[in-house]
Amino acid sequence: MTGAMNGQDFVSMIRSIQRAIDAEQAELNTLDSALGDGDHGGALATAFADAADKVAALENPSPSSVLMATSQSLLNRMGGASGALYGTLFLRMSAALKDCAEVDVAGWSAAISAGLAGVQARGKSAPGDKTMVDALAPAATAFAAADTLSSAFAAAAAAAQEGAARTAGMVAKFGRAKFVGERAVGHVDAGARSIAVLFAALQRYWEDEHGKA
Ligand code: ADP
Ligand code: MG
Repeated sequence: MTGAMNGQDFVSMIRSIQRAIDAEQAELNTLDSALGDGDHGGALATAFADAADKVAALENPSPSSVLMATSQSLLNRMGGASGALYGTLFLRMSAALKDCAEVDVAGWSAAISAGLAGVQARGKSAPGDKTMVDALAPAATAFAAADTLSSAFAAAAAAAQEGAARTAGMVAKFGRAKFVGERAVGHVDAGARSIAVLFAALQRYWEDEHGKA
């Protein structure tokens, strides 16, 4: 069984992401305080709390409609540079899965690659710029190489975590962190870390529902 997720699974998954972000919000704020304005965890937690409520109220949730409602919460409730970028990520994933009743590993891979492309187009950022892209790009690569959802979620979580850790060695080219210059070295980027939290939540969601790979 390579696995697939339907609309109701996506509703549960957004709740899992919301809980994980909530648990990590103080740490994400601390990371953002070193290089930015310290709001990243709180802003994400507010947006995902709104998203989890909105998707639970959808009448016939499809994977695409759940991701679309989530993108609206991120765009409307998060604000700032990363609200638009996180919103774009979920919007592009939603568009990639239009008309899919179930999403398997190939669908997930296509959606994450589309989301990554959207974030990079909107943010003008590339790997190495010390942003969320440094966690998202390796996660997309891990998804493209996997042949089951179970192995994909595990590999993507590990890749995002490693990608986020690598941002500690980088100087930022975007956001408030770019004004910090060389002093950014030694600090993990908050947006990269939140993407790692998100992929860890996806892995945990899958293992809770289906057991380990
Ligand atoms: P703000 O900077 O508006 O306070 P947040 O604190 O929520 O927004 O998010 C900051 C994060 O946004 C950064 O840690 C970085 O990962 C991400 N980010 C900022 N600008 C860009 C960009 N141009 N491309 C990709 N990611 C970006
Ligand atoms: Mg901030």
